[in-house]
This record gives sequence, structure tokens and C-alpha cells, in this order.
Amino acid sequence: MSQKKRYFLEEDEIPRNWYNIQADMPVKPMPPLNPQTREPMKAEDLYPIFARECCDQELNMTDRWIPIPDEVREMYKYYRSTPLVRAYGLEKALGTSAHIYFKNESVSPMGSHKLNSAIPQAYYCKKEGVKNVTTETGAGQWGASLSYAASLFGLEAAVYQVKISYEQKPYRRSIMQTFGAQVTPSPSMSTRAGKNILTANPNSQGSLGTAISEAVELARTTPDCKYALGSVLSHVTLHQTVIGLEAEKQMEMAGEYPDIVIACFGGGSNFGGISFPFMRHKIAAENGKSHTRFVAAEPASCPKLTKGKFCYDFGDEAGYTPLLPMFSLGHKFQPANIHAGGLRYHGAGVIVSQLLKDGLMEAVDIDQIESFEAGCLFARAEGIIPAPESCHAIAATIREVRKLKEGEEKVILFNLSGHGLVDMASYDKYLSGDLINYTVTDEEIEANLAKQQ
Ligand SMILES: *Cc1c(COP(=O)(O)O)cnc(C)c1O
Repeated sequence: MSQKKRYFLEEDEIPRNWYNIQADMPVKPMPPLNPQTREPMKAEDLYPIFARECCDQELNMTDRWIPIPDEVREMYKYYRSTPLVRAYGLEKALGTSAHIYFKNESVSPMGSHKLNSAIPQAYYCKKEGVKNVTTETGAGQWGASLSYAASLFGLEAAVYQVKISYEQKPYRRSIMQTFGAQVTPSPSMSTRAGKNILTANPNSQGSLGTAISEAVELARTTPDCKYALGSVLSHVTLHQTVIGLEAEKQMEMAGEYPDIVIACFGGGSNFGGISFPFMRHKIAAENGKSHTRFVAAEPASCPKLTKGKFCYDFGDEAGYTPLLPMFSLGHKFQPANIHAGGLRYHGAGVIVSQLLKDGLMEAVDIDQIESFEAGCLFARAEGIIPAPESCHAIAATIREVRKLKEGEEKVILFNLSGHGLVDMASYDKYLSGDLINYTVTDEEIEANLAKQQ
């Protein structure tokens, strides 16, 4: 009997709208605050930093569906729909009767889901006459995606890359440069934020928080320049809902509906992207009657959802961003240098933070050795080497499978956020037994949160 392995949508079935869960949330997220006055901020207050359209989307609490511009949809067609894949190989390797599906976002030109938001962000900048975009990047996935998207719309891109990644991941830098971006290791002497950090600590290896500070400063001080962010903010997650909206139709083609939806968690964009379209049915169901569970998998070394505190905190280390209501480890938190660079961020998006608080989703933390074990098992079973970030989703999936009773047929859907072919140095470390686990104690987290006042 032939069993269907992959489900695709025709080009004209690619979603025409993104799903804005803010319109449906039982409790809306609290507003961002101006750090000086602690007054709620309006979309206009964010216009100097981000594309106007993105600012409006960020605080849009009323429109459930937000149209995907035709120009963006045209570029989505270069790689969408992405396949929904039934993981027969993984099911067999685990000896489970669960039905495991994954949405394969690794097939995008840049190898991860990040392009889904880079394209609209670059497009909105272009539309309002902006000439330059700037951003930060860790492992380089976001920087590569924005560099490519900028080149599509004839914009110049300036990327601050966390110094340790700039040195350890030279190929992502080459990818950005191939698309014409200017890449600077952060902290750098080119901004006040960078200079301050280097003066205090000349050996600083950088962090995402520092790189954000540098990029935001550049956007504020350069004419016709906007900043773009690859995760955390609500408009980024909005763009990523194209993942879940496609998956919803594809699961229908497979004649199934997920009992559990799982994704790895850095700032929440791929998690929200795959989850929110399914969560809308849970919210709409009477008394939240739908049984579907949503599980975010974060690294044990950066456990903002499982061990952080819900509070107003800055999105960056220097304190340039608005104050955001989120689960956070404190904006001064310096995560251990794990290989899943995309998950090393101190906070969680405001939507996800509110949903977690309201019990609509769950979170688990996973250490890096368990994540790579899961990644290698998946690679051998399905022939795709997952990004170190995505390995966390796979590990969480395996944990769920292990909890099932013999013969139980749960349907599990996880997001494969990216492939790991540019991250083989990390796999080398794992395979040679050189990886260690990092965990954070409650005392360390308390100390970090105390530092921020
Ligand atoms: C950036 C990244 C992540 C984490 O970001 P989210 O906003 O939490 O999705 C996960 N996987 C990959 C491959 C990434 O590049």
C-alpha cells in the first residue's frame, strides 16, 4: 500500500492573509511602555524605528485577518507552500503508533522560516521610501534572510552579527555578503552602545541584546534607515502564521488534526507561526474545549518561559527598546554559548507571554545534548539535518511520544524551523563528545532580574 509522504498546496492556495491572534485573544497583551514616562506607546511612537505598516500591525488588536501584499505573495511563491511531511521514518525509529508530521520550513532559499517575515518587512520599507535596513543577527539565519529580502527590493542592508558567531559561523557571513549586505561584528566601535560595552569589557564576545542596541542606534541616527527584527515582536509572528495556515490546509488533506503542536522557541516567531492558526479554534471552541496542546521547546540554558518572570523588561541589553510585558530572564542576562544561537534570547514575545500566563500553551526546557541526540536520530530517520534550534522541537516531540501508552494514536505536528547544513561545526562538537550542558539556577535568574532596575 502506498502511503502519502508529503502534502503540498498549489500556488493559488498559498494563504492570502496572515492571522492576527491579537484580535481573538481572551486577554489582550498589555501595551509596550515608554521607558522614560512609563506611558503606553502607540504605533506612531514606533514609526522612527520600524516600517510604519509593521508598527500598525504590532498593535492591531482588532483585525483578525491581515492581507498579504501581492508583491510579498509573489516572493513567497519562490519556496511556498513548504511541504507538510509525515515522518514515517521517525515513527519507525521510535517504534510508535503516534502519527508524526512536520512542516518543513528548511526548504526556503535561506534554509529557515525567517524569510517569511524578512520579505514583508523589506517590502514595507521599500513601499515607504526607505533606502537602508539594519538589523542584528546571532547565528546568521535572520541576517541572511534580511540580506536576501533587502536585495529583492533594492535596499541596502547593514547587519550587526554577534562577534562570537561572526567568528564561529563564517559561512553565514559569506551568505549575507553574497547578497550584498555589509556585516559588522558586534560589539563594534561604530556605535555608542558598542563602544560602551567594549570599554567596559574589551573581550566581549557580544550578545543579541548588544547587537540589537547597535542596530537600533544606527536606525535612529541614519536618514532613510529602518530597523527590522527577526523574532519576538508581534508583527514578526503575524507574518510567520503563513506556516500554520498552510499546515492547517495540509493536515486537512491528510485527514487529520493535531493533538499536539510543537515548535522550538527563541523569541516565539516560529512557535506562534505554526501554533496560532490552530489555537484560534481552541479559543473559539466553547470553554476552550479543544483538546489540542501547544508546546514551546526552549533551551535549558535560556529558560525564559519555564523559569523566567513575567514583567516589563527591555528587549535589548542597552535599554533602547520600549518596555515589553513578557516572560524574561532580565535584559542583562548573558546566555551560555550554546549552539542553538537562535534560541539565545532573554525574553519571549508579548503575545506568547500572555498566552502562557493564560494557560493556552505550555513550555518545556531541553538541554543541548538531548537536543542533538534527537537531531541525529531525526537526520538518520528522515534524511534532513535539522538546525540546532529545530533539534529542540524534535526532542520535545520525542518526549511526547515516550509519554504515550502502547498503541495510542496521537497526532503530533512539529515545525522544522530550519536545516543545519551551515551549522555542521556544532554537529562536529556533538559527535566528538565535546558538548556540555548548561543550566541556569533560580538564584542566577533572580540576580539578573534584580540587576535590571
Ligand atoms: C531564529 C531561529 C529560531 C528561533 O526563533 P523564533 O523566533 O523563536 O522562531 C528557530 N529556528 C531557526 C532555524 C532559527 O533560525
